[in-house]
Amino acid sequence: MKAYQITKWGQPLEEREIETPEPTGTQVLLRVTASGICHSDIHIWDGYFDMGGDNKLSLEDRGMELPFTMGHEVLGEVVALGPDASGVEIGDMRIYFPWIGCGECDVCQRGDELLCLAPRTPGTRYAGGYAEYCIAQHPKYLVPFDGVEETHAATCACSGVTAYSALKKLNFLKADEHLMIIGAGGVGLAGIGMAKAVVNAKLIVADIDPAKRAAALAAGADIVIDNSDAEAVASLLERTGGGVHGVVDFVGAPATTGFAMQTLARGGSIVVVGLFGGAVPLPTASLPLKMMSLIGSYVGNLAEMHELMALVKAGKVKPVPVTPRPLREAGDAIADLRAGKGVGRYVLTN
Ligand SMILES: [Zn+2]
Ligand SMILES: [Zn+2]
Repeated sequence: MKAYQITKWGQPLEEREIETPEPTGTQVLLRVTASGICHSDIHIWDGYFDMGGDNKLSLEDRGMELPFTMGHEVLGEVVALGPDASGVEIGDMRIYFPWIGCGECDVCQRGDELLCLAPRTPGTRYAGGYAEYCIAQHPKYLVPFDGVEETHAATCACSGVTAYSALKKLNFLKADEHLMIIGAGGVGLAGIGMAKAVVNAKLIVADIDPAKRAAALAAGADIVIDNSDAEAVASLLERTGGGVHGVVDFVGAPATTGFAMQTLARGGSIVVVGLFGGAVPLPTASLPLKMMSLIGSYVGNLAEMHELMALVKAGKVKPVPVTPRPLREAGDAIADLRAGKGVGRYVLTN
């Protein structure tokens, strides 16, 4: 089969002919028909995450070896089952839920597989979806998406469930309070498109790019604001009557998390999702004095994936704009994403 692999960190992906894997045990082989390109793939491609200062989280130190096939928003057709796999049939179309652990330890048993210390995520630990075929570890991770457009359904596996899980952490906000989403890029747009279905609050979207603010308005934002504007903090405090009660920061840069802290109402909560990197000065006394909650949210769990798909099937989630690209353009597509071209998501199709 063809796979589009990292052979050198940060260098153009290489089209390679490799052996099509055979499912063993509980594994299922999918013929990949849609595979989303996620912004975090850029960091994986580079081989590290920026942790602020000069600190880098190296993926090689974490055991990743090249050549490697990225792609964790995988959707496809079941074409072969291992001897112990049951619950799906040949020909079934499924999303492969990627945020999986060993499946056996305590956190995995209670459904928090993303806290497992032995992750088996396709595209970050195991071979992913930038290829013609992909191995899924167990049928329980294969999620139906009946009736939902394939390219949209694929993006639910990462950007969708990431946005859903982050917003769900603020689902206690009230109708007269303000929820602010920072960043209307891929994941942020997914969040804007489902925010009203998850959080019953007024929706403000902050982004420095006018085109993204326009996309946010089209996707359902009540108010948009340019957070790079020198007057933005004062104007937002005034318009909200003292600050926003909940923020989801889909960027996670010092400037955006700092903006969230400056515009937060007393008792407010900030959920940081974005992996932009860097470090932000945090006056520790502001946590108690402002009664501020600073929460990290990373992707989502399998139960949340099923909850999200129920909302999607019910038509309560506005699909993010998707640009399909043929699988063979995987390398160009991720280079275009790095260059900041296009609004929404690229999804490789085959
Ligand atoms: Zn992702
Ligand atoms: Zn585990």
